[in-house]
Amino acid sequence: MTGERDIRRALPSVDRVLQNSQDLVARWGHLRVSKAIRKHLDSIRQSIDAKQKPDLSILAIHSAISTALAASDAQSIRPVINLSGVVLHTNLGRACLPAAAAEAAYQAAMYPNNLEYDLETGKRGNRDVHVESLICELTGSEAATVVNNNAAAVVLVLSTLAKGLEVPVSRGELVEIGGSFRVPEVMASSGCTLVEVGATNRTHLKDYRSAISAQTALLMKVHTSNYRLEGFTQSVDEKTLAELAHEHGLPCIVDLGSGCLADFSALGLPAEPKASDYIANGIDLITFSGDKLLGGPQCGIIAGKKSLLERICKNPLKRALRVDSMTLAALSEVLKLYQDPDSLSDTLPTLKQLTRPASEIEAQASRLSAELATYLAPAFRTATAPCLSQIGSGALPVETLPSFAIAIEALNGDSELRRLAKVLRQLPRPVIGRIHQGKLLLDLRCLDCETLFVEQLPQLRDALSC
Ligand SMILES: *Cc1c(COP(=O)(O)O)cnc(C)c1O
Repeated sequence: MTGERDIRRALPSVDRVLQNSQDLVARWGHLRVSKAIRKHLDSIRQSIDAKQKPDLSILAIHSAISTALAASDAQSIRPVINLSGVVLHTNLGRACLPAAAAEAAYQAAMYPNNLEYDLETGKRGNRDVHVESLICELTGSEAATVVNNNAAAVVLVLSTLAKGLEVPVSRGELVEIGGSFRVPEVMASSGCTLVEVGATNRTHLKDYRSAISAQTALLMKVHTSNYRLEGFTQSVDEKTLAELAHEHGLPCIVDLGSGCLADFSALGLPAEPKASDYIANGIDLITFSGDKLLGGPQCGIIAGKKSLLERICKNPLKRALRVDSMTLAALSEVLKLYQDPDSLSDTLPTLKQLTRPASEIEAQASRLSAELATYLAPAFRTATAPCLSQIGSGALPVETLPSFAIAIEALNGDSELRRLAKVLRQLPRPVIGRIHQGKLLLDLRCLDCETLFVEQLPQLRDALSC
């Protein structure tokens, strides 16, 4: 016991450590450093209680505190290299912005701006003006607004137009998007009553017709973003549904999910109707995400009839769901790129990644596979292999894009493969792959920083040897 008390007595005071940590105070400030010292001295006391023999020298304490402060300061959101094979990966931040859009967001963040200020009149302006006319031009709509994300867009539309009323939706479209977006629950939280129409695989026009009552607020279609009904199926197309709605004096709305503004077939991608097709077919309002196929910042776009948008923008919820100037600045730059559709596969990162030729990815894979092999041998076997990339984020769920991967096999079994996957995730710029059928696949479709990737490879050897 005496020994323990002696050790405790040898423990320096907070003040003494502080006096010897002026270099840390200069870097991190008095408050943070004293907190870190207290925390560290507490943990030393605990290890003394646990009969351990911690190093009580000022030097050791200083070094521990310095490490702890640096670790607590590490950036939480960091860039990673997405070799998962999913282009629009929700967990990896979805669409990457083009440089012009990121720069516009940066300017909006750093300086005062004309977010809601009319520079012509010097009077208060409206934040939607920065993007509304572009959205209208690209979708053929009369009016548009932007909120936090597409889920918010759907909630705002329904709670403005359908609160306390009924909304018929096909049973084949009661979608659950990952996370917590489920059509029935979103409708309930918007205060409207879902009226299920038809059967899971087949919904006919007469099903909608018989669901319409005096309580009906509108007719709604939901894009089946992450699945496809196949086999004996039937659904009502949006043009026919819009006609039925209009016969009854009701609006017809579509939650497009991803929302596509480009001609995908012309880009050599799987066909997907454009947002403007829905408006041309008589749909009164569409909602879609900013950071899925559109390739912009996270937001939700509502576009369509002016009279409906006026009601939507007056809803106090609009204020709660609005976006900031960084988002609007970035979105505006992204939308401008769509004014030159022929260049999109060069100018917009999302479309560039989606349209990247498999032959180019294959060449890159053979180049890098050989390089990687020199750091992974002899415990791992490295080869190139064809694979299929997914578009992701519930855009075109069953379509895949032919791609190439570096396929890595561990000669000592699955746990080694998982260890390698972890070591890759711990690189300064973490590399995210996917394990598939006993191999770690690095799908190179989205690798646009090859030098960065290659430069950190030598670190693998050390990381794997310990
Ligand atoms: C993705 C998606 C949503 C949600 O969009 P967020 O922008 O993620 O909020 C809603 N509806 C459909 C059909 C979707 O695909």
